[in-house]
Amino acid sequence: MERDDDRPWSRTAPSQRWDYIVIGSGMGGMTTAAILAKLGKRVLVLERHYVPGGFTHSFKRKRWHWDVGVHAIGEVTEKALLGRILGDLTGGRLKWASLGAEYEHFHYPDGFDISFPDNRRQYKENLYEAFPDEREAIDRYFSEVRHAVSAMWGYYASRVLPEGLATALSPLTLRASSRYTDRTLRSVLDEITTNPRLKVVLAGQWGYYGSPPSQGSFAIHASVVHHFLHGAYYPVGGAGNIARTMLRTVADAGGWTRIRAEVDHILIEDGAAVGVRMKDGEEIRADRVVSAANARVTVSQLVPPEARPAEWAAAVNAMPPSPAHVCLYMGFEGDITKAGAGAANQWFWETWDTELTAWDFTDSDSLPPLLYTSYPSLKDPSHDPGPSMLHTGEIVTFVPYESFAKWRGSAWMKRGPEYEALKDDLTARMLKLFFKHRPGLEPMLRHAELSTPLTTEHFANPAAGAIYGVVSTPDRYRNPWLRPRTPIRNLFLSGCDVGSAGVMGAFAGGLLSAVAAEPTAALRYLRPLAMPSRR
Ligand SMILES: Cc1cc2nc3c(=O)[nH]c(=O)nc-3n(C[C@H](O)[C@H](O)[C@H](O)COP(=O)(O)OP(=O)(O)OC[C@H]3O[C@@H](n4cnc5c(N)ncnc54)[C@H](O)[C@@H]3O)c2cc1C
Repeated sequence: MERDDDRPWSRTAPSQRWDYIVIGSGMGGMTTAAILAKLGKRVLVLERHYVPGGFTHSFKRKRWHWDVGVHAIGEVTEKALLGRILGDLTGGRLKWASLGAEYEHFHYPDGFDISFPDNRRQYKENLYEAFPDEREAIDRYFSEVRHAVSAMWGYYASRVLPEGLATALSPLTLRASSRYTDRTLRSVLDEITTNPRLKVVLAGQWGYYGSPPSQGSFAIHASVVHHFLHGAYYPVGGAGNIARTMLRTVADAGGWTRIRAEVDHILIEDGAAVGVRMKDGEEIRADRVVSAANARVTVSQLVPPEARPAEWAAAVNAMPPSPAHVCLYMGFEGDITKAGAGAANQWFWETWDTELTAWDFTDSDSLPPLLYTSYPSLKDPSHDPGPSMLHTGEIVTFVPYESFAKWRGSAWMKRGPEYEALKDDLTARMLKLFFKHRPGLEPMLRHAELSTPLTTEHFANPAAGAIYGVVSTPDRYRNPWLRPRTPIRNLFLSGCDVGSAGVMGAFAGGLLSAVAAEPTAALRYLRPLAMPSRR
């Protein structure tokens, strides 16, 4: 059975007994699979889509390529622990390009703009300059972020322990972290300052985890701020290179990735996971199963009802999904840098009310409260625009999932004229607002295609089209079952729901899952990577 060097996956896999089956090839699944492969385990990754990578996959239309869930990723260099582990798991084959000294620009109403730079000192300077009377509050904010991030080590350590032991040790392990996990971002900001605009700016990056300040835990906010303190990066060659390099590590160790391979359910015998049954009825056996297909999907779709421990299922299902989104994928012809496009992401807020989670587009005159815009082709140093100067852009905004629910169950690309008309209408309204901010790009636009929460469900199968798995509220951190070990023997969870939101959050979930499954060997593998190399 042959696999391409550049595409270490195939539609078939050898029929043999595997040490581990990993369901889902998102960042979480790939990470767990690559570590287990490094530990000498025979791993089979099963992915329902025809392209691996989950939200890190790329796709092509006409002459343009886009990524889905990769706009900015932090902590990928040798200086960061996660970056060193990622470097090892990708065999040094995955390269990263910085989005620049300023990786993000925020634009608020009344012409208030602020940039987020790639170092803490400049970040503070930018804030001092914008809010000269708030130096003390800004210093206190950074101090809270630093303390929260160091306190979270205890939390993640407790997550790899079996549930009973974790509960018994929680007065010790969670003593420091609960001060941050239990509070919302809003409550911390209210303690720090009374300046409403400073609060909005400090909360600016909540879009990277999807829970607005009154709901999101300060712990997730601090993790995201810390994640980007040394800038943001983009995978050279596009996000598809993440799967190419991670799954190569799995293949090199004798493992396999099967695409177009949808798991119907996990086989459970005598209270233990023993393999999976595919949608076509095929059974594949393994000593252990890791589900990286999102916690809610695992509980409600993959574990058969009769084998589902009630307390576990209730606890996981009690967690609401993070928001759904629409994304407008744009293809340009021309020099878009002359019209205000750049490698840095640009956030356009139309309101100072950043509690607004989703665009209620039922009012036909309404425009999105937020446009998160990004130009992947300008981030990628290997992108060749060619003589026609081909470039790409993306606009993301949150929408209520319920507004699309009536088309659930219809087939992709065949959802009917009413749905297509809605997409055209939303596209027109998003472009109207976008061109208000970037008028020079209008004559260069050649292609625009909208994805909806149903597109997201079709390709990646998250619950309710969620962009970041379950919500990142204080309840998430108190939930005893968002952990890699499940009450079913030999069944583990991986991905963003047991780590954190975002690509590196899912990567962390993948690591925790491997450590929970193979504690001694995984820690032996990870220990040398804990210290920065002296090379
Ligand atoms: C529009 C958008 C923009 C984003 N931007 C950023 C960003 O800039 N930076 C950042 O860090 N994060 C970003 N994210 C978030 C980030 O991409 C995700 O949090 C992360 O990639 C999730 O990884 P995961 O492995 O947990 O899940 P997923 O990537 O969702 O992987 C789950 C996989 O399981 C597969 N699966 C599900 N059910 C089955 C089944 N029955 N059988 C087989 N396979 C199955 C799915 O097909 C999928 O491949 C963005 C997300 C989106 C959608």
